[in-house]
Amino acid sequence: MDLDWSPDDLAFRDEVRRFLNEKLTDDLRRAGRLATSVYPDHEASMRWQEILHAQGWAAPAWPVKYGGCRWSLTQHYIFGRECTLAGAPNLSPMGIRMVSHAIMAFGTDEQRDYFLPRILTGEVFFCQGYSEPEAGSDLASLNMQAVDDGADLVVTGSKIWTTHATEANWIFALVRTSRQAKKQQGITFVLIDMRTPGIEIRPLVMTSGEQVQNQVFFDQVRVPKTNVLGAVDDGWTVAKYLLNFERGGGAAAPALQVMAEELAQAALSQTDPNGEGALIDDPAFAAKLADARIRADVLEILEYRTLALVSSGKDPGPAASTIKILGTELSQALTELALEAAGPRGRAYQPHATMPGGPIVDYAAPADGFVSGDDWQAVASLRYFNDRAGSIYAGSNEIQRNIIAKATLGL
Ligand SMILES: Cc1cc2nc3c(=O)[nH]c(=O)nc-3n(C[C@H](O)[C@H](O)[C@H](O)COP(=O)(O)OP(=O)(O)OC[C@H]3O[C@@H](n4cnc5c(N)ncnc54)[C@H](O)[C@@H]3O)c2cc1C
Repeated sequence: MDLDWSPDDLAFRDEVRRFLNEKLTDDLRRAGRLATSVYPDHEASMRWQEILHAQGWAAPAWPVKYGGCRWSLTQHYIFGRECTLAGAPNLSPMGIRMVSHAIMAFGTDEQRDYFLPRILTGEVFFCQGYSEPEAGSDLASLNMQAVDDGADLVVTGSKIWTTHATEANWIFALVRTSRQAKKQQGITFVLIDMRTPGIEIRPLVMTSGEQVQNQVFFDQVRVPKTNVLGAVDDGWTVAKYLLNFERGGGAAAPALQVMAEELAQAALSQTDPNGEGALIDDPAFAAKLADARIRADVLEILEYRTLALVSSGKDPGPAASTIKILGTELSQALTELALEAAGPRGRAYQPHATMPGGPIVDYAAPADGFVSGDDWQAVASLRYFNDRAGSIYAGSNEIQRNIIAKATLGL
């Protein structure tokens, strides 16, 4: 394994840096830097997608014929890394990184022609309807009913934790079309227009006070069969294929390294618990920060190793699961440290402390429209609450450990 970038890779990195210097405006950087979760401010994220699309870089991992880039895996990683280091807002993964690949693999020509260009421009914005109140880790036990009615399926039931359902105009969903001995059979993958009559969205207020997730109710919603992706009753095949894209790839380490560095900078100016010196000189705090920085570097090496394996055509095994566990647990540790560093100021912005059960009064809706303010203590507090979900979504960390146990220990 060679840890140095090649001259071509360095030239590519410089090209990306030039582009970011020119196009990533201060307000977009600010939106990226202050994001309290993996989802930044929606408007800023869409504006950044538009700029990337104009450059042909909105969906670099797509095949070239659909608008992707002819990049090596290393170039993909460098691009992700540079965007993170520059503070670019993330793009929503649901369309570009997830359902688009399923549409390419399982869609009809009409579905590809309609959805792919519109996902690129942002005209079509997808949310994900997999989880249900009684089906999360055990996803195959899902129950949302779809009854065959000629040219349509008629869908009734509910999906939960649906991120960005209020922003989305389409949802990709798993529905139950028949009951068979094996519960993975009889599931169908459908694309549903969120403007169809019979859909109601109820926001879920998270512990951070933010309203990003929702429960979505479907009451006799008519979905044309032309919106089925893959075959009726064989949606599990499509669902599993899509999950490879939800968990795999990406560069998680740079964002965590940036967080650790910002925290170290902040700890230089914060006072220690006794009010006697800089927080960074408090041995207990410094030891925890050092541990987090080492783990971020370990994660980076692991990402490089996975990249090297995949680039040389080898099977990375359950690396995506390992990276997901390490990344989310480290992020949680960093947000805990940030809250510790913020002290009482961090706590003051916990929304339920200021208005129990109500909307965030201060930092959720500032005049400039960004989700967070520019006071790092406040952001630390919101990030802390938001990050608790990191070990749950995209397959809980316990489930990832099961995958590793099976794949590497043969359990
Ligand atoms: C912030 C957030 C955003 C989300 N966004 C979306 C979205 O956009 N679309 C969507 O469809 N879903 C979304 N989800 C749902 C997410 O995928 C589920 O929460 C997750 O799969 C866990 O399911 P569950 O909540 O039903 O918990 P459960 O499956 O009930 O699990 C409860 C606990 O039991 C553990 N557990 C369960 N089974 C096992 C097992 N076999 N072995 C060991 N431990 C086990 C779990 O790890 C967990 O700790 C989101 C969730 C969150 C928190």
